[in-house]
Amino acid sequence: MESIDWGKLPFGYYKTDFNVRSVYKDGAWGELEVSSSEYINVHIAATGLHYGQEAFEGMKAFRGKDGKVRVFRWEENAMRMRRSAEGIMMAEVQDELFFDAITSVVKLNEKYIPPYGTGASLYIRPLLFGSGAEVGVKPSKEYTFVVFCGPVGPYFKEGFKPVAIQLVSDYDRTAPQGTGNIKVGGNYAASLRPASRAKDEGYVSVLFTDAKEHKFIDEAGPANFFGIKGNTYITPKSKTILPSITNMSLEQIVRDLGMEVERRPVAVEELSTFDEVGACGTAAIISPIGKIFDRTQNKLYEYGTPGVAGPISTKIYHTLRGIQEGEIEDKHGWNYIIEI
Ligand SMILES: *Cc1c(COP(=O)(O)O)cnc(C)c1O
Repeated sequence: MESIDWGKLPFGYYKTDFNVRSVYKDGAWGELEVSSSEYINVHIAATGLHYGQEAFEGMKAFRGKDGKVRVFRWEENAMRMRRSAEGIMMAEVQDELFFDAITSVVKLNEKYIPPYGTGASLYIRPLLFGSGAEVGVKPSKEYTFVVFCGPVGPYFKEGFKPVAIQLVSDYDRTAPQGTGNIKVGGNYAASLRPASRAKDEGYVSVLFTDAKEHKFIDEAGPANFFGIKGNTYITPKSKTILPSITNMSLEQIVRDLGMEVERRPVAVEELSTFDEVGACGTAAIISPIGKIFDRTQNKLYEYGTPGVAGPISTKIYHTLRGIQEGEIEDKHGWNYIIEI
């Protein structure tokens, strides 16, 4: 195997040796199969291709200082994938199969688990889609569940520094009563154009407003939004936000620190009242935000000292990372240790 420069890995696809798959047919999931191919043979009329019957998950395994390999809150990802399946009428993957798949793929690709201290981790990507043939619009009778993984870099090449993002109200990632609260590919397709425009205009990401009135903060493309005001952690509540497991964990961490948590609608104007703001998700844990540019109102919101993440964001980021890497006591039982 070529030697991997762990510290320089991007957050991207990396070919490993194996992935695992199972097919749902005649009302039951088949045996989990190990494959060394990066390809799937898909029917030309698969509903996943034509009608967006597709959902995915994203989670990570970490190698700790003690050499142990930990996956973070996998039961939450399994549950969320079932909710996604239910939302777009796909066969559900039960905990047992989900667990077998993620632990097998990690064990099979052990040599790709980044060493402790490199900032890198092993990203695990479960994928579920309708693989049976239909031409009329209806749910497939057949489904394919695939899990692959690959090492990903520390996400922040320049360290844990605030980024600039763009608030948009001329695009929506999801409809008010649509599929925003489940992790389906279709939501991402709708977000590509505004995200790409934001990058062209010099921002790392977009922050969407609510699709009905465009008056409230929704979420940031693939990450939830939060703000810190004094001793309170505030995160938007809306039916179109994907429930982030990172956000849920940060809420618990701030409670453990004696802070308050508010999950409620957050009006755009409230952006001017926060001490710190950030986006949170598995990829980076927290992306501290230094600037939010409201593209429609032509208004700029700025936070903290340029180039420096706020103290609370920094503290909770290090706490969650410390738990994931086994350095801080896992008092809520979030980690599962994979015996390799
Ligand atoms: C996956 C995802 C997140 C982050 O969720 P985590 O469980 O924290 O990784 C946030 N928003 C959207 C739209 C997502 O798809």
